[in-house]
Amino acid sequence: MLKDNFGREITYLRFSITQRCNFRCVYCHSYNNMSSEPSLDDISFIVNVFSSLGFKKIRITGGEPLVRNDIVDIVRVVKQAKFDEVVMTTNGYRLHQVARDLKAAGLDRINISIDSLNRSTFLSITSLDKFDDVYKGLLEAISVGFNPVKINTVLLRGINESDILPLVEMTKDNNLIVRFIELMPVKGNSFFDEHFLSYRDAIKIIESKYKLEKHPTPWHEVASYYKINGFKGLIGFITSVSQHFCGSCNRLRLTSTFKIFPCLFSSEYVSIKDAVLYRDEKLLKDLIMESVNIKPPAHGEIKIGTKEFIENMQELGG
Ligand code: SAM
Ligand code: SF4
Repeated sequence: MLKDNFGREITYLRFSITQRCNFRCVYCHSYNNMSSEPSLDDISFIVNVFSSLGFKKIRITGGEPLVRNDIVDIVRVVKQAKFDEVVMTTNGYRLHQVARDLKAAGLDRINISIDSLNRSTFLSITSLDKFDDVYKGLLEAISVGFNPVKINTVLLRGINESDILPLVEMTKDNNLIVRFIELMPVKGNSFFDEHFLSYRDAIKIIESKYKLEKHPTPWHEVASYYKINGFKGLIGFITSVSQHFCGSCNRLRLTSTFKIFPCLFSSEYVSIKDAVLYRDEKLLKDLIMESVNIKPPAHGEIKIGTKEFIENMQELGG
């Protein structure tokens, strides 16, 4: 198992398998992201090397992972690499068609991003009228046995405050985990300064109606969890801006352009392109270890007018 210079065990890989996305979420989209993508064979080579270095969890992300027509094969190949957990984050636009196949291919868990339960708000955030499909995908994911399904909702001041309570209420009868994510600044996108809403404000909205009880948070989970008495599911807050969780960071991010980013908020990366091209296992292992060695202890403070921002969310995969 790899340890960084600050004693953190690095066991979680987030792999953005494409920069392409059919949605244009206002807070995420900043670039025109056309680039080549790893082939199935590249992915197989890469994930097996990560697994051999003690990586235990892998998240398939993007861009939008479901835009890849070979997504079920990708999950199958990743599953063969013997991680403890293979998970995916998706906007869910065609999950109603592929959830069963993804499950059969070995996907262990799924996170679906849903910022609003209101069709027109959903459209104004994503610029695609796909709410009905995404909702169908959520129901299908539950029905084929993903358990628990997590919903990711980015908190957006002036846009989706009125969705917070309805989303929380979805945890009443379902074993769902609804996680509210603080908006992070993305380069070339001025959305953050105007629409940042802190998790504390979201808690105030929820506590205007319900009492939140703290729920134990597993080590390395980035969300802090709460429960409402009598509700089946959980509510989580990912406080990337108000309170960073760098002290327990256990992850590396790998892009579809073959760059390993040791920190979401740093432009420093290690290119593994040649190692992948020449199937050089020893070189790839060395480069992964180098990425672990240059992991910073923490990122700087993020605030309105911040200098800290994410270069390219769709490349980095969130
Ligand atoms: N397309 C997939 C999706 O939307 O779930 C996967 C990639 S997306 C980059 C991964 C996660 O990052 C999503 O839950 C999305 O809401 C979140 N995200 C994107 N931009 C963000 C931002 N500026 N601040 C906070 N979260 C963001
Ligand atoms: Fe696409 Fe996901 Fe970014 Fe939305 S958050 S634009 S769905 S990558």
